[in-house]
Amino acid sequence: MAEHYIPDNLPTHLQHYIGGKLVDSIDGDTFDVLDPVTNKPYIKAASGKVADVAAAVAAAKDAFENGPWPGMLPRDRSRVLHKIADIVETRGRELAEFECFDTGLPITQALGQARRAAENFRFFADLIVAQHDDAFKVPGRQANYVNRKPIGVAGLITPWNTPFMLESWKLGPALATGNTVVLKPAEFTPLSASLWPGIFEEAGLPAGVFNIVHGFGEEGYAGDSLVKHPDVPLISFTGESRTGQIIFGNAAPYLKGLSMELGGKSPAVVFADADLEAAIDATIFGVFSLNGERCTAGSRILVERSIYDEFVERYSAQAKRVKVGLPHDDATEVGALVHPEHFEKVMSYVEIGKTEARLTAGGGRPAEFPEGNFIQPTVFADVAPDARIFQEEIFGPVVAITPFDTDEEALELANNTKYGLAAYIWTNDLKRAHNFAQDVEAGMVWLNSNNVRDLRTPFGGVKASGLGHEGGYRSIDFYTDQQAVHINLGAVHNPVFGKAEDAAEVIDA
Ligand code: NAD
Repeated sequence: MAEHYIPDNLPTHLQHYIGGKLVDSIDGDTFDVLDPVTNKPYIKAASGKVADVAAAVAAAKDAFENGPWPGMLPRDRSRVLHKIADIVETRGRELAEFECFDTGLPITQALGQARRAAENFRFFADLIVAQHDDAFKVPGRQANYVNRKPIGVAGLITPWNTPFMLESWKLGPALATGNTVVLKPAEFTPLSASLWPGIFEEAGLPAGVFNIVHGFGEEGYAGDSLVKHPDVPLISFTGESRTGQIIFGNAAPYLKGLSMELGGKSPAVVFADADLEAAIDATIFGVFSLNGERCTAGSRILVERSIYDEFVERYSAQAKRVKVGLPHDDATEVGALVHPEHFEKVMSYVEIGKTEARLTAGGGRPAEFPEGNFIQPTVFADVAPDARIFQEEIFGPVVAITPFDTDEEALELANNTKYGLAAYIWTNDLKRAHNFAQDVEAGMVWLNSNNVRDLRTPFGGVKASGLGHEGGYRSIDFYTDQQAVHINLGAVHNPVFGKAEDAAEVIDA
């Protein structure tokens, strides 16, 4: 068996990055970060609190109000973003090795995430120079145009699954539009974020535009302090639906702009007329890639009754062949789950599943890994819609399969959870595919496809899966104010008091 790989260029400890400088917490507090293969602490990270967040927000606010970034020509900001993308590409291997070591993701998939992170910067670098704004004309009377402006300090709060890529997804548009940022990376996986300061400095991003505060999310800690800071008008959050609700409440008194990318329990619906082999391959990848720690995972598979037995048999056999291994091994398809707490949570669902449904593959720790957060790809069949493993987000390599008889029942089952992030539909019937896509409660739908995303399309969920959409121009909208400017071309009559007929001119409140 391959040996557990530990990158030889790990930093000695992780610090905040505030106003262009690496700094410890003001109170000196730190927390341990664990290696998911051994569960031993391998590094200490600075634990941010109210005062550290205040310092980071002050630096970001100063860079916004007094620095060059917000007022730079889009082309000039775009150049910096392209340079960031170039550096991320060049350092992709190093980055993926940090990510793989810290998160337990398979190295091949971490390399893909690094490529995607570079692409996120490149995409928004291009979009911002192509950005145009609306203008409206009332001939002879009035011209109106939209003046788009960066908003200020954006607070970015990210989860531990694919951390570097998800950070880039927020950093790209927030920076492209001229905002300054404070990033709060997830406490389980802060390592790859330690590469941002060097990347941004090399690319020429002015000091103070980008800041990091490490630490926990709860009250009194970094995440909560960022949400409650009055000088942070925007919060872009990705994480659990429950955390999203708390942040929503805490941001309410400040009336902040919020973007919420939350949890999922997405259905993959396989009709009898589908290309079965393609559907099995894709639904295996769809739930077991990224260790199953994937918001858009197709973790409920609904299968038409006439092919159900064959599907379950072939699917379970294929799940047993998915290779669990050390994250850094090129052959590994499922690595180690991120943290012992999360491992225990996923294992508890495996035990719940055994009481609720029929286990057809996996169901525990692989014998060759007595330690670390390794779980066999696990398949449950005959899962009833009221089962907890059908309703609740497990966020691990565990899938629930349920049969259906009619299109109506498939739709009812697909919509029968509180979530609504993604849906995958497998059928060769065009009419059925499009009708199902119309009716399914999901922010994103893929027909006969895995989760392959065009960066221009909206990204987001409905119901408990999110609030608002990012992606393409929607991200630009989120990170900018749109001011309407109205110009009188000479023929707009300005009403005056005292003239009865002028009162009728006042038509907008
Ligand atoms: P989490 O909600 O526990 O934590 C996410 C982040 O929020 C962390 O940085 C955490 O420190 C911070 N946080 C926690 N409490 C906070 C508070 N009160 N105030 C401010 N910040 C706080 O989520 P997680 O366990 O890190 O990530 C997994 C979840 O993320 C899953 O539910 C998954 O579906 C979801 N997710 C969604 C998407 C999407 O785009 N919809 C993408 C990836 C992950």
